[in-house]
Amino acid sequence: AKADGRNAARFFDPSMQDAADHRAAFDASMRNGLSMGQFRLFCQPQFDTRGRLVGAEVLLRWQRDDDLIGPEHFIGFAEESGLILPLGEHVLEESCRALARWQHDPALARLKLAVNVSVHQMRDADFPAAMATILDGTGAPAGRLCLELTESVFAENMLEITHRMHEICSQGVSFSLDDFGTGYSSLAYLKRFPLSALKIDRSFVHDIGIDPGSGSIVEAIIALAHKFKLDIVAEGVEDEAQRRFLVKGGCSSMQGFLLGRPLPMAEFEQMYRTAGSG
Ligand code: C2E
Ligand code: CA
Ligand code: CA
Ligand code: CA
Repeated sequence: AKADGRNAARFFDPSMQDAADHRAAFDASMRNGLSMGQFRLFCQPQFDTRGRLVGAEVLLRWQRDDDLIGPEHFIGFAEESGLILPLGEHVLEESCRALARWQHDPALARLKLAVNVSVHQMRDADFPAAMATILDGTGAPAGRLCLELTESVFAENMLEITHRMHEICSQGVSFSLDDFGTGYSSLAYLKRFPLSALKIDRSFVHDIGIDPGSGSIVEAIIALAHKFKLDIVAEGVEDEAQRRFLVKGGCSSMQGFLLGRPLPMAEFEQMYRTAGSG
């Protein structure tokens, strides 16, 4: 019939076949890249309001030959293919190795490391056990690890996610809510989930001083965070006016190009370790 013909035509559409081939090749390339150690951790420094280094956020890059590929080009695909689970474990493993290593340097030993975790990882019932194994195996101080979740996690099964978060919290690891204000924000979540910090999305920070409304949003988020006894981290701080506004507003820490770009892990360590050591 007509419908069948259309389906058949769609099925054999050569451009679609190309897209599927391309997609399969990309997945294979990512899988290969993971086994070859091409996924590298970068660290962006985070500072308190007095300008002291307090930690870093881990940001993933794919070093494919001479190309350095940003996460916006592969995380979504890794989530669709399921590769996000081993890829996420790689990031956690390397992050915990760093935390363990940093214990030997006084300047690095007090830093916290924030790691982005996909909602797909939180859906995995084995995730808390995998986290425990990694902490154990690396000897990382769990209290220095913070997992960043986006609000998309709150569209999931609440009971399941909170249970999993509590399991991980009981290991000493904390959670922060990333990109706050851009997604499924609901005040109810702030009470229900075991969170330690909120991260103000860089879109709000960006508009400080441009759009007076954004300043008010930032002030409101900070007030809310204080009310719920949450730390507040601002991201995307690019100029001095934004920094001053955030310090005055009572934000606990901040990151952004003004203060430091993401650096390869080894360069980050080199830059911030105790002068003269190593
Ligand atoms: P995010 O968690 O919101 O990370 C912050 C992004 O803002 C990073 O982009 C960072 O390089 C960028 N950034 C930092 N300071 C500034 C600034 O002053 N101005 C501007 N315009 N941008 C700034 P990046 O590294 O491209 O990461 C993009 C997103 O990819 C991250 O957004 C995060 O959602 C995701 N991602 C990165 N690493 C991982 C990972 O290991 N696992 C997972 N699941 N997602 C990751
Ligand atoms: Ca993040
Ligand atoms: Ca963010
Ligand atoms: Ca963001």
